[in-house]
Amino acid sequence: MSDQTVKYLLGEHAVPTQWINLRPDLPGEPLPPLHPGTLAPAGPDDLSPIFPMGLIEQEVSAEPEIEIPEEVRETYRLWRPTPLFRARRFERALDTPAHIYFKYEGVSAAGSHKPNTAVPQVYENAKAGIKHLVTETGAGQWGSSLAFACSLFGLGCEVFMVGSSYDQKPYRRSMMETWGASVHRSPSDLTQAGRDNAGHPTGSLGIAISEAVEVAAGRGDANYSLGSVLNHVLLHQTVIGQEAIAQMELAGEMPDVVIACVGGGSNFGGLAIPFLRRVLRDGARTRFVAAEPAACPTLTRGVYRYDFGDTAGLTPLMPMYTLGHDFVPAPVHAGGLRYHGDSPLLCGLVRAGLVEARAYRQNEIFEAAVRFARTQGLIPAPEPAHAIRATIEEAEAAREAGEERVILFGLCGHGNFDLGAYDAYLAGTLEDPEFSEADMDAALARLPDAPAIA
Ligand SMILES: *Cc1c(COP(=O)(O)O)cnc(C)c1O
Repeated sequence: MSDQTVKYLLGEHAVPTQWINLRPDLPGEPLPPLHPGTLAPAGPDDLSPIFPMGLIEQEVSAEPEIEIPEEVRETYRLWRPTPLFRARRFERALDTPAHIYFKYEGVSAAGSHKPNTAVPQVYENAKAGIKHLVTETGAGQWGSSLAFACSLFGLGCEVFMVGSSYDQKPYRRSMMETWGASVHRSPSDLTQAGRDNAGHPTGSLGIAISEAVEVAAGRGDANYSLGSVLNHVLLHQTVIGQEAIAQMELAGEMPDVVIACVGGGSNFGGLAIPFLRRVLRDGARTRFVAAEPAACPTLTRGVYRYDFGDTAGLTPLMPMYTLGHDFVPAPVHAGGLRYHGDSPLLCGLVRAGLVEARAYRQNEIFEAAVRFARTQGLIPAPEPAHAIRATIEEAEAAREAGEERVILFGLCGHGNFDLGAYDAYLAGTLEDPEFSEADMDAALARLPDAPAIA
């Protein structure tokens, strides 16, 4: 047997003790969110009706490191540290001199990186005396993760699931219910927002958010919870990149390029931020590639502007690349990547030229995912299939340049609940919707009035 290592594993003591906050390492003051009514900078008090103070402090923190509470670390140990793999079989299939590594988050109970933030969010809400969390879910990953975390801390959990996903992915609902959550098909008749939208039977993320916020706002013991985009969510996800650095050290190399998919930016940020800090502080020469769908090309085609985080315009305005808050992307199977904006922190990194963004169509990402599955076995979720597509491009470029390029990508979730999408790809019936010029013009026309960003 060859002694070529394929898995780099850390013991439980290696679960990180702190989260990494990149903001103090970035030049200049971050642009503040704006209150949706007054357009004045929004402060902690504007967030307190829906978030506990512990999370708001993390959201606005200027500390470079934030200690992970012992109870959260203890809970992380249920599945962390996650493995880092060297994809040697994939390398051989691609006939590349590149070394390809991937950090696998599919070993969590929910099958993705999302429990990394669900657990500390539930912990802070429980500490603040909150008894019940309400949220929306599109593809079902976030709802499953929050249901899992609520079950561990004894909180009630209520999930509004986008109608089309509710119909297509019954087993995601079964998972949430097994962990004790109640799941409503959205639009529901439980809320005014749901009743007002009864004419859109397949639902949308925007409608589901409105329903969840309405329920949370109507109960004193309930809060709303968000699974991506915000600073505190990216912060929680930095356990991924910290472990990956320790594992790359075991492998005796460091990545030349780090690649992850982007929906709201949390798995990308979680993997990249610890490596980005090495670039900013120590002059490490790592490149970063963010991969997104051509049907929802926020970073590659969006405009950098203040926009709402939600469809209805209830949340603060955030400075970000956006396709317009009421843009409804084509129903591609990477449901987790269908968001009109992105994390303001990540958008700032793209704007500063520290992160490169690329957009891919549906058939090319499934082709990449199937090549990966047929060499490494694991079936990727459609979202990280975008990162695999970018990895293949880098591996091919390395071959052309005759370079031993070191590539690290994030495999942020498995696709075991996404086999309907694989069926469609294998049957040749997947479409390749793209964002059109008309979509772009419509998006620009609907942006809110807000100060321009210099
Ligand atoms: C939610 C999700 C995403 C998109 O969210 P990010 O915040 O961009 O990470 C990507 N992949 C998977 C597996 C998800 O569950």
